[in-house]
Amino acid sequence: MTRLAHLWDQSRCIACGACIAACNAANYGSTGRVNKTWGWLASNIKRVELVRGPRPMLFLVQCQHCDNAPCVAVCPTGASYRDVDGLVKIKPELCIGCKYCMVACPYEARWLDEESGLPRKCMGEECLSRVKAGLEPVCVAVCPAGARAFGDLDDPNSAISRRLAQSRYIRLLEGKGTEPKYFVVVGP
Ligand code: SF4
Ligand code: SF4
Repeated sequence: MTRLAHLWDQSRCIACGACIAACNAANYGSTGRVNKTWGWLASNIKRVELVRGPRPMLFLVQCQHCDNAPCVAVCPTGASYRDVDGLVKIKPELCIGCKYCMVACPYEARWLDEESGLPRKCMGEECLSRVKAGLEPVCVAVCPAGARAFGDLDDPNSAISRRLAQSRYIRLLEGKGTEPKYFVVVGP
């Protein structure tokens, strides 16, 4: 089986925003779209600043490609689905814009594209094409700090599996039972 997943290393991230800008340029850049849901440019990566605690902390949140995805369970048309590669995807031709998926997602990982009236999320069309061609998603490719990885969890030699084997990491909102596949590395 293949279970593609994302990793973001919080301990290496320098908060440069290159991944966010690259997502915008690759997946939405030529259209002038904005992401009003997050008050943001059109990108599938959300920057969350936590100001409590001894120092401000930055979190980058995006679709967790949950193995047990609430967005898929509530979708009345099958537009949201988990593909055989383990990624959760949207078939725009089946989407009726009901937004049930946006409400169901505990990570608030989907945003509304006002131009099309449809929800968007990681991964965008350009990133899916890149992965099909054997390339990394753009956020991983551009990160100057090596803070991102992507690959197959079921392949022990994949970039993500090798990184996880050497790292301490968490998954977000694990208690929700969503089985998220977005790994937040907190240190070696
Ligand atoms: S993070 Fe949200 S949008 Fe992504 S698969 Fe999980 S429930 Fe669906
Ligand atoms: S490109 Fe890398 S270092 Fe920059 S914000 Fe994204 S994850 Fe962090």
